[in-house]
Amino acid sequence: MCDTVIPRPEAATVAVQGAAARFPVRRIYCVGRNYADHAREMGDSGREPPFFFAKPADAVLNVAQGAVGVLPYPPLTQDLHHEVELVAALGAGGRDLTPERAAACIWGYAIGLDMTRRDLQGAAKQAGRPWETGKAFDHSAPIGPLHPTAAVGAMAQGAITLSVNGQLRQSGNLSDMIWPVPEAIAYLSTLFELKAGDLIYTGTPAGVGAVVPGDQIEAAIEGLGVLRVRIG
Ligand code: MN
Repeated sequence: MCDTVIPRPEAATVAVQGAAARFPVRRIYCVGRNYADHAREMGDSGREPPFFFAKPADAVLNVAQGAVGVLPYPPLTQDLHHEVELVAALGAGGRDLTPERAAACIWGYAIGLDMTRRDLQGAAKQAGRPWETGKAFDHSAPIGPLHPTAAVGAMAQGAITLSVNGQLRQSGNLSDMIWPVPEAIAYLSTLFELKAGDLIYTGTPAGVGAVVPGDQIEAAIEGLGVLRVRIG
């Protein structure tokens, strides 16, 4: 490695279930409104083309299996929302992928939370400004360990749920996605060249809502275990 004029920032990584080696994160892309019921609650109708936004790689908040992660309540919001999402991690990439080739690029899957300062996102939408303040803040991407595709398969169906303090808030099925993961990744690859290390948060079912300090989130996806996060 070449010398750097200041210390090189530590690269973000994600744990891998049952392995010591970690998955290095290059970029984080997120799919907007990918479940019909959530799209409706946010004002959409029908199958509109997917749209994307990004978070910085170091927004990941790693939570080990069986542990309770702590998400510091972020500044300048009164309306911090949870969004449970299936995360696909790419082991390879490319441009203009077919859904079949996109599927073959997926190294593994994890449970993730696309945490959102909904009030700041709403203000940005109204003003026609970018979403970063609402979506891309520090620790805004809690994630559990990655499960290799070789072990868990294609994750095209299965329950996806989120409860807060034991009360069910979000409940859907991965098969309810408007753009199934390989199609969403294929579409994304027409906009950006995808590479190994990219994480894709694939959208959330209906039932998003606010959490406050002290709340405990329990997010589950069939086959991937449970992700627990307490709001600090
Ligand atoms: Mn989301």
